[in-house]
Amino acid sequence: MSLPRGRRSFAGETEGGVPVADKSRPQSASSEVVRDINRRIVLNLIRKRQPISRAELARVSGMQRSTISLIVEQLIEEDWVLAGPTGRLPRGRRPVFLRLNDERVLIGVDIRPSQITAALADANGRFISEEAIATTADPEFTLGRLVEVVERIVASCRGRKIEGIGVTVPGRCIPGSDRLAFAPNLGWRDVDIRTPLVKATGLEVKIENAATACALAAVWFDHMEAVRNLVVVTVSEGIGAGILLNGQLVHGLNGMAGEFGHVPIDPQGPPCACGRRGCWEVFASNRAALRYYRESGTESAGVSFPDLLNLADQGDGRAGEALNKMACYLGRGMRMLVGGLAPERIVVVGDLTRSWERFEAVIMPEILDQVSPGGVAPQLIPARDGGVARLRGTVALVLENDFGVCS
Ligand SMILES: [Zn+2]
Repeated sequence: MSLPRGRRSFAGETEGGVPVADKSRPQSASSEVVRDINRRIVLNLIRKRQPISRAELARVSGMQRSTISLIVEQLIEEDWVLAGPTGRLPRGRRPVFLRLNDERVLIGVDIRPSQITAALADANGRFISEEAIATTADPEFTLGRLVEVVERIVASCRGRKIEGIGVTVPGRCIPGSDRLAFAPNLGWRDVDIRTPLVKATGLEVKIENAATACALAAVWFDHMEAVRNLVVVTVSEGIGAGILLNGQLVHGLNGMAGEFGHVPIDPQGPPCACGRRGCWEVFASNRAALRYYRESGTESAGVSFPDLLNLADQGDGRAGEALNKMACYLGRGMRMLVGGLAPERIVVVGDLTRSWERFEAVIMPEILDQVSPGGVAPQLIPARDGGVARLRGTVALVLENDFGVCS
């Protein structure tokens, strides 16, 4: 069985950061829930430590051998796990090693204002293929093209079991409705993304805000299980925040938590796509840096944000100034996160991580200055695999059902 939706907490942790089922907690009272948690723990341990033997699983998890054997048999039966000897033969023994079945695949779709990327990934989070299409102002037309891409991916799987489709969006969906409710940079309103994909494929479709999915992926892929207070800041055309507090993903009323990007930091500032003026993202997004560059009087037609990073690296002073100004506003805005949420870690996702040293040097002093006496400064880190960080979020969304430590 699955844990009830909406209760996304860690089951508990040992000192080594390995989550274990805590039978003393009220929500774990049912033996079925404990079994479900233990299953997830075993599946996660196999994912992280593969190839691994049953004996090693028992040692690392602290569970009894008989419990491990029962869970592993079930996972093998369900085709999640494959068993077989490997080249490791300590002292002549031939232990059976377990690994994830990478024939189990899933489809990830990352929707951004400029383009949509659809990819095929395996259960280990490795990407097998990837295709991008342009996003247009007409959601029906764009989703029609997306369905064609997804159908091609499904056809390419030739019999491999597809777990489902994870979709990340630059906005918020009202929980339970899966309709895109707020996505000012996309310009789509009240759009049903799920139905066309379900109709075309018959697969389960999960939709989540990109930053929130990235928070899930950070826990999932970057082994941050021991981190219980984490904010992911996605910086692209806009700015999104995904929040994990006390080990729980935060959605808030109508799924709108995390919209720091649309908090005005200067009500007299330039207009924002949300209808207000001077929102954080108007000053600190990729678009802001391009505007600063344009305003410096430089010929900037056709210059993209990655171009701007390259120009700065090549010594273009105005490009460097534009990026520094963006970094400064990023740091200013992150003071809201540090002061209001007290995260242990802030993970930054976006093209800017390619020039991380430049940004870190400006952002970090702002963060340190916001830490009150007696407080602890959060770590500020760039997302690993910056280019595919959002796609990894789509993978985490789908696998959360079976592996989720946060669900
Ligand atoms: Zn706004």
